[in-house]
Amino acid sequence: MISAVPPALDLTAILLEQDQPDRLFDEADLVPARMLNEFTYCPRLAYLEWVQGEFVDNLDTLQGTFGHRNVDKPSAKPVPAKPTVVKPAAPPPKRRPSLFDDLDEPAPPVIEVVELSPVDPDDLFAEPQSDREDSPPVTTRALTLSAPREGLVAKLDVLELDGMVVTPVDYKKGSIPDNPFQAWEPERVQLCAQGLILRENGYNCEAGELYYIESRRRVRVAFDDALVMKTRQLVKQLREMARNKKIPPPLVDSPKCPRCSLVGICLPDETNLLLQLERTNEASPQGISQTPDSNLGSGTPAPRARSLDSLWDETQPIGDSPDESDPTSTEFSSPHTRPHPASDSVMRNPSCDAQRPAEPVSGMRRLLPARDDALPLYVKEQGAFVGKDGDRIVVRHREAKLVSVPLMEVSQLSLFGNVQISAQALREIADRGIPICHFSYGGWFHAITHGHVHKNIQLRIAQFAVAADPQRALALSIGFMTAKLRNSRTMLRRHGNGKTAEVVGVRDLDQLAELIHKVERASSIESLLGFEGKAAKIYFAGFARFLQRGEGFDMAGRNRRPPRDPVNAVLSFVYALLTKEVTIAVQAVGFDPLLGFCHQPRYGRPSLALDLAEEFRPIIADSTAMMVINNGEVGPSSFLSRAGAVALTEAGRRSVIAAFERRMDQEITHPIFGYKISYRRVLEVQARLLSRVVMGELPAYPGFCTR
Ligand code: SF4
Repeated sequence: MISAVPPALDLTAILLEQDQPDRLFDEADLVPARMLNEFTYCPRLAYLEWVQGEFVDNLDTLQGTFGHRNVDKPSAKPVPAKPTVVKPAAPPPKRRPSLFDDLDEPAPPVIEVVELSPVDPDDLFAEPQSDREDSPPVTTRALTLSAPREGLVAKLDVLELDGMVVTPVDYKKGSIPDNPFQAWEPERVQLCAQGLILRENGYNCEAGELYYIESRRRVRVAFDDALVMKTRQLVKQLREMARNKKIPPPLVDSPKCPRCSLVGICLPDETNLLLQLERTNEASPQGISQTPDSNLGSGTPAPRARSLDSLWDETQPIGDSPDESDPTSTEFSSPHTRPHPASDSVMRNPSCDAQRPAEPVSGMRRLLPARDDALPLYVKEQGAFVGKDGDRIVVRHREAKLVSVPLMEVSQLSLFGNVQISAQALREIADRGIPICHFSYGGWFHAITHGHVHKNIQLRIAQFAVAADPQRALALSIGFMTAKLRNSRTMLRRHGNGKTAEVVGVRDLDQLAELIHKVERASSIESLLGFEGKAAKIYFAGFARFLQRGEGFDMAGRNRRPPRDPVNAVLSFVYALLTKEVTIAVQAVGFDPLLGFCHQPRYGRPSLALDLAEEFRPIIADSTAMMVINNGEVGPSSFLSRAGAVALTEAGRRSVIAAFERRMDQEITHPIFGYKISYRRVLEVQARLLSRVVMGELPAYPGFCTR
């Protein structure tokens, strides 16, 4: 809540409009009165909406839209406007030479526009001024007016005019608040902004009214000096905030957040916790300690670097793990915050443990739903046709209707191979912000179709700047790879519980711990990839030991393009599904998925999605693959082998997709925030946290390391 008056502002000037009397704001710089409401409620909310272009509906906003359904329809009635007075100017001063001087034509007449009211379509039907003052009162709806001097624009729900005396009426959902003003401050400020706009347009406007839909009553708000001053002060502060391009901090433990429609984008408690952990680590020498394995590997030469191009290739075409929410495991939970060489710049060493408490935080508010109600829709039937019927997606094959689903229950649409979609369905799906993912018949992730590009251009500018800075790109890459290796090691450790030391591969776990230590200290992307490549060999050797189906499901390391055994065929397919999910997540946040920090740019390759997918490969993709194989959800008949290349059949793909969706929908306990959350939601949260790091709000990327 903004209440303090910054000393830099001249309040008298603000009240008397004298600080910049001649300045008129451009149309693009006008502050919407609605945004002033948001800014008064929470400056961060206004920043997210106005500067970053974020908007999400929640129950409150939908109720508000419903409550406004009548006043959102513009009136057809004429509205009297202050006349536009145009008079001949005084004799013009000596003209500067112009192009016209060479012609023997008189110069164009010069006129001076004394006052020009904004032209509203309704004004075109306005009657002459002489008739207006005697005209009966008029009420109009949904009138948009601007005030270039105040720098404001507003859409007025209702405007009541009695001659040139006007009263704006703003509709508010809910009932009259129980406070001395009988109105919330953001609403009073918004209404006052409307009053200032009306005044600048020549109307006499001393007060407005708030109509509370639930109470069915109006509350009068006088536009006194104090409210006018506060309103103008807030307009200035809002402009200042937008100019600085620095996102305001989240509110702390505020009751406003649970009702805020942008809570899932803002992540207020999560951001505050990560910043607090960072401060604690900086302030407390006890918080900085060496990892238990810190003496491991010193002086070990770096393995040869492995190109990440090969990792992208892996994404194209690992039973169930124990509960990952097991909070009793404290492995890798010791604080380890040795600063990275890049720590002097914007980003810090993103070790998993540096950003997390020894145990998940308990009692932290979960302000975002654990999972989405909407689900992905996969169309794999060759020759199928996707159309739209009202508010539903309908999939047909020849004359048969295969499925009909309400659009509101679909979060994404994936089309495999020869599947058609109608223009109407395409437009409606894109309008609703539902991504359409295109796969080849064999499961190669080709393309994604979506509506307009995300409005958050500031994030893309920052993304390109970070990608161009080797130190900052390295810091992020270390974050992704450290989390990947930790999750790989955790995966092997869990599956080895209760088994012999040989099966568990104790030595493998030690070697992985050593490589994690080296990854955290990598001095270049090349050395980082070298450590990662060596870790992958150890990991897949261990992974193969835990496959329980015997013959037909042997695995001699990872191979791809094309996969040469059933296990690798499943892995390739499930990596493609994971890449699709992460591409959707980074795009929803506003990133350009093609520009990564670790994976180098290559035509058409979603490098950023591949970066972020790294930490989820073991715990989502490999875990899914192990589940379908060990549970017998795929068998020898689920694969086709041709000339040494192995691919899933359509039925096999169906089984893998079903298992992958179960995994994505599975709720786990977040290792830092302590609340239950689905893997699909985790991807979204990690993408948002990454954006906060790239934008400089968070100092280090908190990789998702399962416990
Ligand atoms: S969630 Fe809270 S801190 Fe974030 S924008 Fe909304 S009100 Fe502000």
